[in-house]
Amino acid sequence: MATASQRKILVARAVQAKARAYAPYSRFRVGAAILAEDGTIIEGCNVENSSYSLTICAERNAVFQAASKGRIRLRAIAIASDDPEFLPPCGACRQVLSEFNPAMEIILTTVDGRTKLTSLARLLPMPADLKKLARPRPVKRK
Ligand SMILES: [Zn+2]
Repeated sequence: MATASQRKILVARAVQAKARAYAPYSRFRVGAAILAEDGTIIEGCNVENSSYSLTICAERNAVFQAASKGRIRLRAIAIASDDPEFLPPCGACRQVLSEFNPAMEIILTTVDGRTKLTSLARLLPMPADLKKLARPRPVKRK
C-alpha cells in the first residue's frame, strides 16, 4: 500500500513523465510513475514509432525501466494523460504489471486533476502466471 502522500507524489511524477511523451502520431501523451517497494519512484512515458506496432505504452516503459534498475517489487503505479476521463492501462500493460505484483495499486487520473484508486487484482483478476503452473517435464524421444 502506498500512503496518501506517496500517491500524491506518484501522480505529480506521472504528470511530469507525460510531458516527455514521444507521441508525434497520436498526439496522445501518457505518463506513468511506479512506486517500488524500497520507496524509489520510476517514471515512464509512451514512445511511439513510425512502425506503429512498435509503440510502447507509458506503463510498460516504466515497468521495464524499474526492472532494469533492479526494482522488481512494485507497490503502486499512477497513470496520467491529457484526457478528461480516467485512462486505465491496456490489457498488455495489465499483464506486464501483474508479473511484478498482481495486487498492485493503480491510481488513475484525469487531466483536470481527479484521481481514482483501483487495483490490478480488480482490473486483471486472472493473469497468466507461469509460476503457478506445474513445471514442464522433459519430452521423451523415441
Ligand atoms: Zn498499455
